[in-house]
Amino acid sequence: MTTDTLTDSTARLLVDGATVSGERTEVRNPARLADVVGSYERAGAAVAEAAVDAAHRAFPRWAATPAAERAARILAGTEAVEADIDGLARLLTREHGKILADATAELTNTVKTLRYYAGLADYVEREERIDDHRGRIIERRVPMGVTAVIVPWNYPVLLATLMYAPALMAGNTVVLKLPDNAPLALSAVLHRLAAELPAGVLNVLAGPGREVGVHLTTHPRVRRVSFTGSTETGRTIMRDASANLKTLGLELGGNDPAIVLESATVDDKLVGGLVRGAFMTTGQVCYAPKRLYVHRSRYADFVDAFVAAADRIVVGDGLDGRVSMGPLNNEQQYRTVVDLVEESRREGADVRTVGSLLGTDGDDGYFLRPTIVTGLRNESALVQQEQFGPALPILAFDDEDEVVGLANDSEYGLAASVWSQDAEHAFDLARRIQAGSVFVNVHRVGASDPSMPFGGFKQSGIGRGHGQIALDEASEIQILADRIDMQQQ
Ligand code: NAD
Repeated sequence: MTTDTLTDSTARLLVDGATVSGERTEVRNPARLADVVGSYERAGAAVAEAAVDAAHRAFPRWAATPAAERAARILAGTEAVEADIDGLARLLTREHGKILADATAELTNTVKTLRYYAGLADYVEREERIDDHRGRIIERRVPMGVTAVIVPWNYPVLLATLMYAPALMAGNTVVLKLPDNAPLALSAVLHRLAAELPAGVLNVLAGPGREVGVHLTTHPRVRRVSFTGSTETGRTIMRDASANLKTLGLELGGNDPAIVLESATVDDKLVGGLVRGAFMTTGQVCYAPKRLYVHRSRYADFVDAFVAAADRIVVGDGLDGRVSMGPLNNEQQYRTVVDLVEESRREGADVRTVGSLLGTDGDDGYFLRPTIVTGLRNESALVQQEQFGPALPILAFDDEDEVVGLANDSEYGLAASVWSQDAEHAFDLARRIQAGSVFVNVHRVGASDPSMPFGGFKQSGIGRGHGQIALDEASEIQILADRIDMQQQ
């Protein structure tokens, strides 16, 4: 193993407090494909093994470290991250494609999340006690051991933080695998944090999910896998992790319905809110509105207003302050969206491509303009599949029972939204939707605070992240008792 200088444009492997060399893979700017932003180093099996081993050895001491000290170390690392938000955000924009305001918000929310979990030291160590004439019952949280954290590229820094921060605060050690697309800013954040932690507590790997990821999800010393990503990969991980019965946190895909009720007014708040939610981060958001259902009495006005508002979107390089939507992050995602739009066309749908391209003819990167699709059936691929991009189907409905059925007719159940002038009525309808979060008159990143439990129904996931519940899920519950309460023979 060699110790090397950390540079933000190289995602270095970090094992037992030291950087380790690996074969490099270039990371290109999806807005300017000739621009090589940096590279990441791939871990082979030996390095992955060394990372798990280091985390395993570091575990007993970290588990015994008072939670207040864990918090102090995490906060020291957080300051180092906060001091460089602008530089990190620019790096994130160049490797990811998202606009600079988005990238800055992701970094700011990362800092907020780290502070939130560091603020829960008392909760981590709180014990529930019953102590009376019959004896004692003590209920406490105990860390599990080595936790593997695997995350996707769409919000790499924030999504990873929502998983490793509670794991570390609960007293677990972590081996994190970076996403192949957009690994650089996350790597830079993790190296800053790890510098404040004992060696082996936070280890960083990179490389293909099917190799490095599988090494972690099948390793007998890994006790828990915290995964954010697609439903398909989630299924594979669940199968792989069953060999040695790891606990799982799975935050998976979504196909969020947004429901515009008859009692909604077609105004800027409604239309602007949904345009922002649907096209933020170029639609590559797990809980973006991905299919819109609008009451037939509002449908024509809504579609006209929505198309007009989306037409004001300026697509281009996210570093340009005039741009409001960047490119797709990668070729595969670009192809998925283009194919779904083509299929919609073949079905005879009305496809409207709006907005403008700034400073590019579109060939330099994975650019797509906002695309609004009407005239589809609920069974159509663009309605049923997660598009994860800026192509949005809008459908009409006639009554509320019908729209509840349409919204719930999905294997996904991540989030949803209901829009109305009558908030009470919207909350009532929200109770009938099968989704982990149902928002009223809002539906975009930011609607779910780090303190709000978040996760999916059905095939959108298992378990809950965010909030105190993430600390519970990262812990075993242990009972210490010296009494008998159950009826005796
Ligand atoms: P993905 O499942 O392809 O990859 C996610 C991560 O898993 C990557 O780091 C990848 O290298 C790794 N991986 C791939 N195969 C693996 C395997 N067999 N074993 C272990 N690891 C493996 O997902 P993606 O395309 O990067 O991300 C987009 C998806 O993530 C979308 O479906 C989106 O909805 C979902 N997502 C969900 C949430 C949520 O909170 N529910 C948040 C963001 C994104």
